[in-house]
Amino acid sequence: MPRKTKLVVTLGPATESPETIGQLIELGANVFRLNMSHAKHEWAAEMAKLVRRESAARHTHVAVLFDLTGPSIRTGDLKEPYELKIGDLVEFRKADTEPSIPLSTTVNYPGMMDDVSEGKTLVVDNGTLLMEIRTKKDDRIICEVRNAGKLGSRRHINLPGTRLNLPAMTDKDRKDLSLAVECDADYIAGSFVRDAAHVQELRSAVEALEGNAQIISKIEDQEAVRHIDAIIQASDAIMIARGDLGIEVAFEELPILQRRIIKRCHELGRRVIVATQLLESMIQNPTPTRAEVTDCSNAVYEEADALMLSGETSIGKHPLRCVEALVKISSRIERSGGLGYGTGVLLRDERQKTARAAVTLSDSLPDARLVVLTRRGVLANHTAMLRPKTAGFYAFTPRETVCRQLALTRNIEAFKMPFAAGIDETIERAAKFLIDRGLVQPGGPMVIVSDLLSDHIAANSILLHHA
Ligand code: PGA
Ligand code: MN
Repeated sequence: MPRKTKLVVTLGPATESPETIGQLIELGANVFRLNMSHAKHEWAAEMAKLVRRESAARHTHVAVLFDLTGPSIRTGDLKEPYELKIGDLVEFRKADTEPSIPLSTTVNYPGMMDDVSEGKTLVVDNGTLLMEIRTKKDDRIICEVRNAGKLGSRRHINLPGTRLNLPAMTDKDRKDLSLAVECDADYIAGSFVRDAAHVQELRSAVEALEGNAQIISKIEDQEAVRHIDAIIQASDAIMIARGDLGIEVAFEELPILQRRIIKRCHELGRRVIVATQLLESMIQNPTPTRAEVTDCSNAVYEEADALMLSGETSIGKHPLRCVEALVKISSRIERSGGLGYGTGVLLRDERQKTARAAVTLSDSLPDARLVVLTRRGVLANHTAMLRPKTAGFYAFTPRETVCRQLALTRNIEAFKMPFAAGIDETIERAAKFLIDRGLVQPGGPMVIVSDLLSDHIAANSILLHHA
């Protein structure tokens, strides 16, 4: 079954064996994600190595994504969790201060007291506990509990609509980022990115270590949404992190934001991943709920580059079935057509306009294959963003890294191939490669787009070739 939508699979205790990783690759995983909020360094390095080994054994280019924890506010340690009732008062105070009321805990972000204001909502533990900020002092805030629940140790705090002055990266993130570079990560994702400067900081940190990783910005709060254009432009790809975003905004806004961000990523020419809770019930159950099937279908219909599995594959009972489910859903929904934001891509330079002409040509030829010759992957990503209709869409590049960095890009399959001195010979090589693999019939039409320089063909060229 040909499939255009790429799949990002989070590894964890449920999927850490070489056999399972191999099976996930065979089923269609394109990118493996290591969640540094949970992964120990030794384990992450081991997983990265396994992914490389298992994908090489299967002659595929599966990528590795390190997802950094990012700056987040956490509550302190409690000996016993608090059982909270509606109306209870809970205090959050700076470290090294004494409680002023019985229900009291510390927070790891001393700047919180400066950022918040009275009357705002505070959400603890992924939306399970809602509180209203009643009193704000220099070193503490006191909140009124709005729904009953349990407050444990080191729980995550969200402050919807509050502008936080947290840094882009914590010390832990810097260490995790160095590990990612050491492991030759293909992508590094920044959590709670709130503006373009944060993205730039991540990129500079990767460059300082001479890493190859591309930068994915996770959109998780209202501040990021406000700066969405600048963040998209500064990033290589965007992740719609619906877990946190769904807490930071009213939940009925989430589908609207998802669609808006996907549209803007198309227009500005960046890849986009839809993440979190796609098949949440499959952490326990062998089949998805009807609502989950419909949610996944919607993301495929919106023509996102990739769908992501988190807990479903890291700790779930049915990781392989989850990948199978996404493969089924995406292959079927792709055949029924898409939203078509690819027609709205802003074409800013000659290269992008050339890509558009190639896609138009290939879309108009029955059975055409679309082939991109690309050194850095840039032209391949531009072409993919236009959402070509053919499912025979291939990139050739001399670089292994580029193959893996196209693993996230919708529809395209990348092959490593050294380029010949002349473009004619390079094209012959690519055609033979595809014929040998049964991906094109001898004589079949191939639309080739390239920005390679050659003696007699200018840069940014389109060729209609018969294999
Ligand atoms: P996380 O990010 O899983 O690292 O929290 C994704 C999300 O918030 O949806
Ligand atoms: Mn998150």
